[in-house]
This record gives sequence, structure tokens and C-alpha cells, in this order.
Amino acid sequence: MLCQSSTELMELVTLVKPYTKQGKVANYIPALGRANPSDLSISVFNIHSSKCQSAGDISVRFTLQSISKVITLALALVDHDEEYVFNKVGMEPTGDPFNSIIKLEMLSPSKPLNPMINAGALVVTSMIKGGTVQEKLERIMSFVRKLSGNNDISYSEEVAISEYNTGSLNRALCYYMKQHNVLDANVEELMELYTKQCSIETTCFDLAQIGAVMANNGTCPITGERFIPIEIAKICKTFMVTCGMYNASGEFAIRVGIPAKSGVSGGILGIVPNEAGIGVYSPSLDEKGNSVAGLKLLEILSKKHNFSMF
Ligand code: GLN
Repeated sequence: MLCQSSTELMELVTLVKPYTKQGKVANYIPALGRANPSDLSISVFNIHSSKCQSAGDISVRFTLQSISKVITLALALVDHDEEYVFNKVGMEPTGDPFNSIIKLEMLSPSKPLNPMINAGALVVTSMIKGGTVQEKLERIMSFVRKLSGNNDISYSEEVAISEYNTGSLNRALCYYMKQHNVLDANVEELMELYTKQCSIETTCFDLAQIGAVMANNGTCPITGERFIPIEIAKICKTFMVTCGMYNASGEFAIRVGIPAKSGVSGGILGIVPNEAGIGVYSPSLDEKGNSVAGLKLLEILSKKHNFSMF
């Protein structure tokens, strides 16, 4: 399926372009530091017309990073019942940065507060069924290929290795949770799977298509096929509202008002329930790890089209 260029979105990209000069590209994963800070792109997939419109540097591929947390949550909930998953990971926002360890130490049991922070996502990834890391990764990638309708989706070995070699903080979260019997996995195998899952590469068009499935309550808007059970799609969207933009989720709910999930690559997956899926990309981040220009694009678009759910 083609994504057509749109004058409205082109004007929006031109308007927001100066914001790409603000913020900083993430470099704590060294390979991410090579992104071009002036890249800016957006795709919007309308579920009623099944048409996609886009503007900006739409051929640029970027890694999912934390956006993958929504996808693994959906898959873990397909693999296990709700009780099993939420016995190990909570449902509450933290108000802390995405990679913080503080609440694990303060709360008893040391259960991560939600699946959108690193600790929670690591636990969720450890629940994905499969005999080997490769098998589990294949299941995650097939799910992303199905949701995006793009069979060419794969992961960046370079970004995965870069994060695997530098992920001491994520290893610390794993070992802390293992000590407190919240996590049962082999930490190195889990780190391999998690870093590869975070390194799955997409364009903003792929994100818009994934968002469209969620906006359509788990059903593909093009074929009508059910990809995600309706209850699971609902849980994912709710987490995106309460925790999807890390400790900026409250402000985002006020300024934009839609379920969304960001990643430190600069991608944002947005969902306008029963209307559209949105993919946005610009790698320069604010201090909370959200794309500065991406946020601005979504804010202007939401105000103009009255996208807010509230
Ligand atoms: N892979 C990244 C990490 O674990 C994902 C974080 C993010 O996108 N916020 O640090």
C-alpha cells in the first residue's frame, strides 16, 4: 500500500521543522547517536478510507526502542492470561524516568509499576513464548510484520549490539528483580532478546499502520482480519494513555489527548481511537526522552482536528 503525500502534512512539517534544532539525539546507546537531528516525518493512516497520508523524510528507518513495549505487552497477553501477566507487573504510572530503579527498591514486592517502563518491559519480554531467543524474536517480528502489513521488517544488528554492550542499567534492573523473585529469566538471554526487540526498524508509515490496527480495536482496517483480541487492544491503549510518554504522560494527555508511545530513537506511535493511526519521527529528544518536534507535530495536529479523547 502506498502512502500519499499531503499538502496539509507538508505545511505542518515545514512549520515544525525549527523545533528539530531543540533537544538532543540519544547517545547512551551509542549507535542511536548517529541519527540526523533534522529528520522529521509523519504518516497518518485513516481507518475509514484505508488511506495513508504523509510528509517529511518518510523513507528514514528508525528503531522502535520503547514503542516495542506495547507490542510485546500485546503478545505476552496473547501468550498468557491477564492474571499471570499482571501478577508480575503493575498497572500504575510511576512519575519517574523510564529507566529508574527507585520504585523497585521502595516498594514491596519489587514488582515494576507498569509495562511501559524498562523494568516492566523486561519482565513482559521474559514472558514471550518460544524455545530459544531466536524463536521468541521471530514471534515478535512476525507480529510487527503482521500489524504493519510490511513483511520486510527486521532489526538493526548494529543498534542491538550497541545497546547490548552498554546496557548496564537494564542488567541492574534485571538482577535486582531476579534477587526479589519477580524475574525468573537468564539475564543475558533476556538482554539479547530485549535489545533486539528494541532494535526492530520501521518507518513512520509502518507505525501509522500499526496504530491504525489499534485504533480499529485490534482489527486490520484493510482486510478486516483480527490481529489483536479487543480486550488486549484496550489494555494496550489504556497503558499508552497513562504511561506511554513516560513521566510526561500527564502533560501529553492535556496537550494532545490520545494514546501514544514514544521511543528514544525519536519515534512516536499515536492512536486516534476509531479514526486513525499516526507515526511520527524526529530524533532530537527532550530531557524526558520524547521527540521534541514529534510532540509539537502531534500537538498541532490534535488541536486542529480535535483528536483529544477528553
Ligand atoms: N532500549 C531502550 C532502553 O532500554 C528503550 C528506552 C526508551 O525508548 N525509552 O533504554
